[in-house]
Amino acid sequence: MLRPQNFELIKFSTKKCLMVNYKSIKLSPGLYFVSTPIGTARDITLRALDILASVDVLAAEDTRTLKKLLEIHGIQLKNRTLISYHDYNGIKIRPKILDYLEQGKSIAYASEAGTPLIADPGFSLLSEVINLGKNVTSAPGPCALIAALTIGGLSTDKFYFEGFLPNNKNQRELKLRNLNRYSGTMVFYESPKRLIDTLEMAVEIFGEKRLGVVCREITKKFEDAKRGNLKELSDFYRNHKVKGEIVILIDGVKDAAGGLDLDRTKIETHLKEALRSMSVKDSAETVSIALNLPRRDVYQLALQIKNSSD
Ligand code: SAM
Repeated sequence: MLRPQNFELIKFSTKKCLMVNYKSIKLSPGLYFVSTPIGTARDITLRALDILASVDVLAAEDTRTLKKLLEIHGIQLKNRTLISYHDYNGIKIRPKILDYLEQGKSIAYASEAGTPLIADPGFSLLSEVINLGKNVTSAPGPCALIAALTIGGLSTDKFYFEGFLPNNKNQRELKLRNLNRYSGTMVFYESPKRLIDTLEMAVEIFGEKRLGVVCREITKKFEDAKRGNLKELSDFYRNHKVKGEIVILIDGVKDAAGGLDLDRTKIETHLKEALRSMSVKDSAETVSIALNLPRRDVYQLALQIKNSSD
């Protein structure tokens, strides 16, 4: 029988042979962050499969989901350890993972779906691995924020990712107000239960005419991207209950004074004044509040002014 190079054949009890798309590879010791599908199981890179098939130890936010993914792709766990690692057990489990790294093992980490660390666990683990001076790499792949930007139809030159807005209504409103003058596309992860509340709040803060997109169930059977202005979207979803996973995109401010670019001289004047008596951080904070501008952008500008004056 032909055995194509770089492919392995697995024998099933039915005596049928299945050709699978991974190969066993020799991996350097270290931590491998592996992106997994956000819907369709075949949205996974060949290298991600190679890594999952070849590492010494596997760690996952949800071990059942990872086992299922391995099964779909014909990868056997064999006698390898599969560790559950999530936000709630991180403190206890991190030392175990670091210990494996000290022993020179290769470890793959996958979150439940998409890219680890993107609104998902993994950041504390990464920090500790970097501090330990151990090798860390990624097998990039699916990510709902990038998929939504790709199909949304709003500008992708510049964007801001908020992840999930806070549950607390006042904090949520404050977050959105702080983004009021942001000129790039804003991206939010959202639950179907809260969708209408967030859209209504967005209408109030950004105005009825601001464009938005609600991307739902990307790469799944009922994938849908609803485009319109915020009023149209909020009217639609008030009358249509939805289920599934959601990413909301909101267009950046487009008026004549929009964004930092067009208001730059005014902002610079305020920042220069503030920097006479305050640190970069405090100046940025004060000016961003005074002018209702995104703190992050004002901070970058304050830093530039400070560096050029030093
Ligand atoms: N790490 C993931 C990533 O790379 O996108 C995100 C994990 S976060 C816990 C889950 C949220 O991502 C969902 O509530 C939803 O907002 C968004 N999401 C994940 N999969 C999605 C999909 N197929 N379609 C739309 N949104 C999705």
